[in-house]
Amino acid sequence: HSLRQPPHLPPETLAISVTDYVFSLLRSTGAAAAAADFSVDTADFIIDATADRSVTYSCFLRQVHSLTLSLPPLAKGQVALILSPPSPCVPVLYFALLSLGVVISPANPLATESELIHMIKLSNPVVAFADSSVSHKLPPLPLGTILLNSSDFDSILTRPVQNGQNPKRLSVSQSDSAAILYSSGTTGRVKGVELTHRNFIAMIAGSYHNRVVNERAKHLVALLTVPLFHVFGFYKIMEMAAMADTMVLMERFDFEKMLRAVEKYRITSMPVSPPIVVAMEKSELTEKYDLSSLEFLRCGGAPLGKDVIERLKSKFPNIILVQGYGLTETAGGGALMRPPETEWSGSVGRLTELMEAKIVNPMTREAMPPGQRGELWLRGPTIMKGYVGDKDATAATLDPEGWLKTGDLCYFDFDGFLYIVGRLKELIKYKAYQVPPAELERLLMTHPEIADAAVIPYPDEEAGEIPMALVVRKPDTHITAAQVIDFVARQVAPYKKIRRVSFIDSIPKNPAGKILRRELINQAVSGA
Ligand code: AMP
Repeated sequence: HSLRQPPHLPPETLAISVTDYVFSLLRSTGAAAAAADFSVDTADFIIDATADRSVTYSCFLRQVHSLTLSLPPLAKGQVALILSPPSPCVPVLYFALLSLGVVISPANPLATESELIHMIKLSNPVVAFADSSVSHKLPPLPLGTILLNSSDFDSILTRPVQNGQNPKRLSVSQSDSAAILYSSGTTGRVKGVELTHRNFIAMIAGSYHNRVVNERAKHLVALLTVPLFHVFGFYKIMEMAAMADTMVLMERFDFEKMLRAVEKYRITSMPVSPPIVVAMEKSELTEKYDLSSLEFLRCGGAPLGKDVIERLKSKFPNIILVQGYGLTETAGGGALMRPPETEWSGSVGRLTELMEAKIVNPMTREAMPPGQRGELWLRGPTIMKGYVGDKDATAATLDPEGWLKTGDLCYFDFDGFLYIVGRLKELIKYKAYQVPPAELERLLMTHPEIADAAVIPYPDEEAGEIPMALVVRKPDTHITAAQVIDFVARQVAPYKKIRRVSFIDSIPKNPAGKILRRELINQAVSGA
């Protein structure tokens, strides 16, 4: 149990959108910081490192205001798809749409056309906002596609707001949906995770309180290396706006450009996934740049090896590595290391505010005491509403008492620190990106020379895990590993590629036909 009510959490019944909530915190942060020579009018909210351009808070607020007045007529509850690499107009769009009660659905700009069609079927958007480099992948939508990097969109953003013209606002309840993000959950294909304004308000209230209490609301200059369409990047945008932080964005991630940006903008904090921690610890490029401003690395999204943590600490003794654990289905909430606790190496921290947890024996469903392993179940105000349009998947994941089955194998120690020791669910995490094995298995089965296939995670130092295919050839056929890899690569986003193949005689299954993945993983790893 971690029932600490964050003082800034509004009552559930108050009608307030996450935008208005964040802006009210921003105003109070701004007012509190004014004494320390900080002004929301002049401070930078976003720095675009690619174009070396910045957007101040006052400019950002004006852009959100202007956008709410100029968007096509969207009704509350309608869905807008967003397809864009990181760019300063993405946060503006998020806050403007959320203030109007429009549900936002950001998708990975690397997704293929058929992956996007699948997502569109799930979330049913009426309009898309897309970067011109990726807009051609979208099918026609009822209200069309609006190009983000166009002079039209730019002129909306920079249009002066007339005196006395208030931003358009609709009455939004906290229980209204705010976003549909994509996750495969514990099984099968990608699903649409429906998250409410309340889910994000609860997340932000918790982080805000932590930052005020533990870090004395220090102004951060954070380089966002995590994608803005993933829950981690999504709520970081909101948290940083609430705290009046400065956010640095890079259109395309590149490790050396990241180091250069740390030096140039005197970055103090970076939300990262484990592969970046591994690269920081291994690469000699780090010596070429002045990284002395860097105080925090906030790592989440996939497991981080204890040895990597130790090596990072000895290479950068002044950097505090803070781990966090969460899921798209929990709006990113779960467990968090709070800075004085980071000595608990290997743990992902203690439960976030208002979260309850139990460790459940997956066979007997009995709750287990501290020290014993089982599936982690979570309950609290950041847990999703459900998988959109999929009652069966929702019922399989959320029990009637509101517990979310995470599919992660975990234990708590006696001090309440959480340790993630394995994964019960079918998910592969390649550089913290979700790769659902069932989707790749279905694809492999469409190949005329493949009789059966299973896809499993294979350990990899740089990526954490890579997708590995175990393939049964049809009699008298000779498909090669390279052909298997190529067949899949042509049909999926690059991060979902098969990167290792092994041919076997049959796929072990239980009597119900379910693939015995654990057996395959053990065989693959021990045969290496
Ligand atoms: P996503 O919905 O993409 O955020 O994926 C959530 C899953 O990522 C969790 O259920 C875990 O399996 C994994 N995960 C997230 N954070 C961590 C972490 N700090 N350590 C280990 N696994 C993690």
